[in-house]
Amino acid sequence: MRTTAVAAFVALLLVSVPAAAQFSPELQQSIQRLNAKPPNTWTSADLAEMAAVTLAMSREMLLSQMSEARRARAANVPVRAVASESGTPAWADEHGIYISEDALGDLILLGTYLGHDVYVEGGEPLQLPPSFVIHPYAVRALLPLLPSLAAINQPNTPQELIRCARGNALCEQPQGFAISGGTVAFVVAHELAHLLLGHEQKKVHSLDEEIAADQEAWRMVMALAPDPREDAPPLEENVRIISVAAPFLVLRWLHDTSTHATDAEAAETRAERLRDIAGDEYFGEPSRIVEPESIPTHLCNVRIDWSEVPDELMIDGVRVAPGDVAGKTLRLLAPAHIFARKNGRFASAQVAGGGTQHVTLDYAAPDAAEHTRDELRELRGTRHWFTLYLATVSSSGQARSEAAAPFFQAAARQIGAATQQALGTWR
Ligand SMILES: [Zn+2]
Repeated sequence: MRTTAVAAFVALLLVSVPAAAQFSPELQQSIQRLNAKPPNTWTSADLAEMAAVTLAMSREMLLSQMSEARRARAANVPVRAVASESGTPAWADEHGIYISEDALGDLILLGTYLGHDVYVEGGEPLQLPPSFVIHPYAVRALLPLLPSLAAINQPNTPQELIRCARGNALCEQPQGFAISGGTVAFVVAHELAHLLLGHEQKKVHSLDEEIAADQEAWRMVMALAPDPREDAPPLEENVRIISVAAPFLVLRWLHDTSTHATDAEAAETRAERLRDIAGDEYFGEPSRIVEPESIPTHLCNVRIDWSEVPDELMIDGVRVAPGDVAGKTLRLLAPAHIFARKNGRFASAQVAGGGTQHVTLDYAAPDAAEHTRDELRELRGTRHWFTLYLATVSSSGQARSEAAAPFFQAAARQIGAATQQALGTWR
């Protein structure tokens, strides 16, 4: 087991689950026993118990929300962490459900990142020592900056940078929930769903069965989430965002860790189908945290020209004065998204690659045709972001209707037309 990853988050996990009081007496006993032990005195037996406790917490939370009939079927299915070389993160057989220890370590880390990101995106900086280098950790979501989740544990991010401070309930409780009620819960729920749906017990399922199990697992995880409401307090709101985001984060991780192109494709299809039932709620905060954005991999030199001076110019969501840019070579982190608006028309360009790039902005009018929701979904699914933007924008640069708004917002973010925290993306 990746003992460092798991051990490091033990204390966090054990103190911060809001539903702790509902756990079975045996589980509460284990939690108390582990909690009383300083992490630096942990033995390998303690770590194994910790893995078991993590899974038991997810399992008991999921069972608590099931109907009597379902609980009767699921209650005697044990969930275990096992050493596995096969690369399959989780599976089930007639004896129970298995999660590979490596996968469990990754899921715990993913939940920790998710808790961090939801907290800081809510506008609350982590209390970290002031330093230029670590400032981004304190104020911006990190998951969108990781080009791949395949090596989420490599290199090690110092835990202090992503762990909530003890006693900061608004950060700590959702972060604990992001693990036991989020990433780990979704994987356990998915395997339980295969059993409850009567799927044949094997390591490889058809895509249809995977999608059916995802949808069932989604309902189980959402049953743990607080209902959405306008005046929800921040803690409740953050837990809700985490519940919506966690299943998608797990699917992104499955995609990124796929060793075959067909598996990666399957993970993408599963995410697309899950978006269909998640609805527009996904395209607010959750998608912004789950989906990778432009990754600052390298610097490039860019010269931007235009046929007409823009009324508004943005680079990666940061408003820039056209006069400051005209005739100059800029140094940007690539890929960079350049967006401009002029008299109700819009231009978009993306700069990737190294060396010096030359970009000419050509303006296009909004696409005046009425688009059905299915057409907009199609554009979104194929990631034709500027086309989607032109299909949903009004001449004043707003969403043209309430129905178009979530599509408009998703497109605007992708082409760098929506303001965001500017840290690290452009100077
Ligand atoms: Zn499955």
